[in-house]
Amino acid sequence: MSVIELEHASKTYPGGVRALWDATLTIGPGELVAVCGPSGSGKSTMLNLMGTLDRPSEGRVKLLGHDMATLSDRRLSAVRAHWIGFVFQQFFLTAHLTAAENVATRLLYLGVPARGRIMAAHEALERVGLGDRLTHRPHELSGGERQRVAIARALVARPMVLFADEPTGNLDTASGAGIVDILWKLHEEGTTVVVITHNTDLAEALPRRVDLLDGRLL
Ligand code: ADP
Ligand code: ADP
Repeated sequence: MSVIELEHASKTYPGGVRALWDATLTIGPGELVAVCGPSGSGKSTMLNLMGTLDRPSEGRVKLLGHDMATLSDRRLSAVRAHWIGFVFQQFFLTAHLTAAENVATRLLYLGVPARGRIMAAHEALERVGLGDRLTHRPHELSGGERQRVAIARALVARPMVLFADEPTGNLDTASGAGIVDILWKLHEEGTTVVVITHNTDLAEALPRRVDLLDGRLL
């Protein structure tokens, strides 16, 4: 069973820009994959299709074998909430909440009761090596630690896939390497992780790399 399949997926934006051409790609359970390409090559477009934030103009996107075209926008939001974790270059943490609260809040929208939210948040923060930073607020954390909180928040709902969009883009080399170590650890624990990046060194450091150029998978 594949986790993500793109089958001849293309995306043409209103106005006629063809951002993705005939992309076919299968990502299996537990893979750690980089989607690598320069600015304008179609990375965000591909992320949006794989992450069910947008629909292809042609072709198919399947998650766990399910064709996303058969789902309403409402069902797609539910798929996103339950199956997918997102991490971005900007960490998007809430400034006045602690690390644990930032992570636990992700579960509020899934209807998890308070005790379960707190326990799951602690566990997720421990997974990323921040078991000793539960009550720190974002301004009390380093950039690398903030990104690890964002990763814990993405993981806390136990998604089937984690998408990381330029996860090291705002970090110095050492903090970035720490994030790469965590992505490897998650991969070794069986989590499926897709990294979107223009950074060829980052892509090179991961077990599988697919390249995008001018909207085409190479
Ligand atoms: P990347 O993430 O690699 O920078 P994008 O997927 O953002 O690439 O963009 C690929 C191409 O599609 C670019 O030419 C971009 O200008 C165009 N594009 C992206 N989003 C839109 C949009 N919403 N409407 C029109 N064109 C878009
Ligand atoms: P860029 O590709 O310019 O670095 P981002 O990394 O901010 O852009 O976002 C990538 C894509 O994810 C965009 O299409 C954006 O609409 C979407 N996105 C950004 N923030 C969120 C969020 N908090 N939840 C869901 N989707 C988001």
